[in-house]
Amino acid sequence: MFKTILVRYDEIAIKKGNRGWFEDILLSNIRNSIGETGSAEKFRGRMVVDLKSEQYLEEAIKRLSFIPGISSFSPAFRMDRESSWEDIVAKSVVLAEQGLKEGRKVLKVICNRSDKSYPGTSIEIQKKLAGEVLSGFDKCFSVSMKNYDLGLEIEIHRKSIFLFSSRFPGIKGLPSGSAGDFLSLLSGGIDSPVASFLCMRRGARVHYISFYSPPYTGEESMKKLEDIAKQLKKYQGSSTKLFIAPLIDIQLLIKARCFESYRTILFRRMMFKIAEKIASRYRFSALVTGESLSQVASQTIENLTCINESVKDLPVIRPLITSEKGETIEIAQKIGTFDISIRNCPDSCTAFLPKMPLIRGDLKKVKEEEKKLEPEIFSLLEESIKNVKVIDV
Ligand code: ATP
Ligand code: MG
Repeated sequence: MFKTILVRYDEIAIKKGNRGWFEDILLSNIRNSIGETGSAEKFRGRMVVDLKSEQYLEEAIKRLSFIPGISSFSPAFRMDRESSWEDIVAKSVVLAEQGLKEGRKVLKVICNRSDKSYPGTSIEIQKKLAGEVLSGFDKCFSVSMKNYDLGLEIEIHRKSIFLFSSRFPGIKGLPSGSAGDFLSLLSGGIDSPVASFLCMRRGARVHYISFYSPPYTGEESMKKLEDIAKQLKKYQGSSTKLFIAPLIDIQLLIKARCFESYRTILFRRMMFKIAEKIASRYRFSALVTGESLSQVASQTIENLTCINESVKDLPVIRPLITSEKGETIEIAQKIGTFDISIRNCPDSCTAFLPKMPLIRGDLKKVKEEEKKLEPEIFSLLEESIKNVKVIDV
């Protein structure tokens, strides 16, 4: 029924001085996300999406529901500002009929005029429209200002009039790209895609780095990572990079020289070192991980301390540090990464899991273990950074 969607945003609206800048980022993200299926433009306090055809509405609703910065949106009839009153009534009747089919029976007409030069006050328009709509429906509706279940809304702008009767919630937050570029350590598990998404919601544009260990990780692991990045890009709007860094030679060196129980901590430290180098090369401003306190042995506070120390200059953001797994899974399902994450393929650490991982690592001892890797480790780290594969998703 609808080809137009009226989009609202609220947190951006508070940012007085930068408002235009935030709006332009949001507009560009919306445009990129809907791609060839339509266009988007800025209205006063709103964005308006025009789809090429109604068939794209369902997918557009799915995407807009998760684009950071959007507070709510409404599929709407878009009419010319000069449309006749009869046309407005006719379209309103269509909305009322639809509402009736859905079992909605208590009506309220709501009018908003951003163009105050339109004849009549908002209250007058509400009353007149309600009267004419009701007259066509022989007592099917009652009217209530407070307890209505069919809000029939008319918004009058300088160029267009919008009529709608539903509001979908957005995820709020800030447009991705307004808080800088972050590099997320993406493992292919359930947590790291959710952590990435949560950063996106606070305005980060997220890029990804993952580590591979051939022959233990193969093509299907790579495909999985690309699919996750693609899925998340739908909400980010702007383009995203996926870095794939080889880790196997470093892992083999650690396996050969260090105590088995220290392996996971040492692998992680090396991952962080590589990630930090790549992040600075691309001028990204933070690293992101899906770590959650004490979820597994490598994530006790002692081990996180040992891992964290390997990053020198960038903040490491851990949006899930206090989350429960169930909550994380719920978000993963909503944003469509869960089904990709549960595809069963090995990540670079599975092949070398120690039988008894260290639970409470001690930084001094970890560093002693790491010393055993010198001097070869320096050139191996450089090699990994040099051979990183960059995929534009
Ligand atoms: P996830 O569900 O994100 O895999 P997890 O609960 O399995 O997390 P770990 O395997 O301990 O936890 O990983 C913790 C975090 O370290 C991950 O969320 C991710 O950010 C990072 N990480 C782990 N393995 C890799 C990898 N192979 N490549 C990139 N990042 C990784
Ligand atoms: Mg994992």
